[in-house]
Amino acid sequence: MRKTIFQFFHWYTPKSILWKQVAEQASHLQWLGISDVWLPPPYKSSAGSDGVGYDVYDLFDLGEFDQKGSVKTKYGTKNQFINAVKALHKNNMSVMGDIVLNHKNGADETEKVLVKKVDYEDRNKVISEPFEKDVNTKFYFPGRNKKYSEFVWDYHAFSGVDECTDENGRCIFKILNEHGDLWDEVIGDEFGNYDYLLGADIEFRNPNVVEELKYWGKWFIETFGIDSLRLDAVKHISPRFYKEWLDYLNENFQKKFFTIAEYWSSDIKFLIEYLDVMEDRAQLFDVALHHNLFDASQRGKDYNLSDIFNNTLVQARSQSAITFVDNHDTQPTQALESFVDYWFKPHANALTLLRQEGIPCVFYPSYYGASYNVNGNDIELSPVPNLYKMLMIRKNLFEGEQCDYFDHPNVISWFVSGTEDNRNAGFVVVLSNGDDGFKEMNLGGLNANRKFVDVTESFADAVVTNNDGIAIFPVKSRNISLWIKGEALDAVK
Ligand code: CA
Repeated sequence: MRKTIFQFFHWYTPKSILWKQVAEQASHLQWLGISDVWLPPPYKSSAGSDGVGYDVYDLFDLGEFDQKGSVKTKYGTKNQFINAVKALHKNNMSVMGDIVLNHKNGADETEKVLVKKVDYEDRNKVISEPFEKDVNTKFYFPGRNKKYSEFVWDYHAFSGVDECTDENGRCIFKILNEHGDLWDEVIGDEFGNYDYLLGADIEFRNPNVVEELKYWGKWFIETFGIDSLRLDAVKHISPRFYKEWLDYLNENFQKKFFTIAEYWSSDIKFLIEYLDVMEDRAQLFDVALHHNLFDASQRGKDYNLSDIFNNTLVQARSQSAITFVDNHDTQPTQALESFVDYWFKPHANALTLLRQEGIPCVFYPSYYGASYNVNGNDIELSPVPNLYKMLMIRKNLFEGEQCDYFDHPNVISWFVSGTEDNRNAGFVVVLSNGDDGFKEMNLGGLNANRKFVDVTESFADAVVTNNDGIAIFPVKSRNISLWIKGEALDAVK
């Protein structure tokens, strides 16, 4: 079966319901053809049950200890998490754990530490003499009381902490300890060095930290039955660490974990550099494709649709690309907001789900919808039209050769042929970002004299191929049409 990932959360997922909902929806997700379910960070946030999970306080508290004002995490209790994982396993899906190791937030105590200020815009530029400062770097998790791990995090375990402002503008406190005056080496050149993202930045040159995180990784995977991994914020972490960490886990569990890293850049130069350094240990989200999809949705008919895959990872390194339309960081009101416009979402989902290249990741609101309120603004995300049918086509009819007609700026199409053994498989996709259009396509002798039906129901009339397998497939303005063989209609019910 083709791999299909489902991101089962968004930034504004309501509190206390998610783990229960995962368990309730597990069999339905399997029906949709989902192979891997990406769950949000399940451990205690510095904001307790209000935190989405990317502001990690305690990696060993999965909704078990009264810390940060709550036993539960945003998504429920530890036992509810265990039940969610069990339900996914029972339905033969992999559970993808979200691994957030760049930073910690919500220290238990401050420490007096030697620091120096570095310029926010160029983190290699020191702008103060060293001085002592009380900083948020002491974590000992009193609510957990050393259960599972006795490790205490202090300033030896962090490279920098907190932002500042002085007369020259924004700055960051670089911690001075035995691991050096400089930031750790990371891939990319934003801000001179982008090791520091937020909170207390973890120091991976400290061997005790590396050992503790290996121990945690093994504990997390073993205790909860995690099958695959999503690595958060790798732009800010030395690849040296993740290579060692993944090798340790792969060796320990005698398998190669399916691993997706999040390197947030639409410049494939950096994505490829990261992949090369990681030597096939991880795949990457295709942020470049996401930006093309967003751009196309903004520019309407002025965007040349035949360029949609230009400069994307799925074009350059298809075997390493995880394609996606939107995620929790790009949804409305988030910092990286670049939400693909609603009219183009069917196009964007077809360009991920119905392609041979890349492994697609479906975003929760695209299927289930979402509504939330941020600063008094009601935001309503509607489900993407025909997403269910696209998933069913991917699951049931995706067999044969793919052939592209990316030959017009405003109407592109492709088909998947079906096979000798399964002549009812295969499909035709036509996309328009301008006027009503059509595409004459040659589906080959295998598809001669066949009747095709548009499952989006834009067109009531079937299209019939001639003796050579040629036919003209229409599409409505700024819309998509999805054609399958009349005899295959049960496959999308
Ligand atoms: Ca870092």
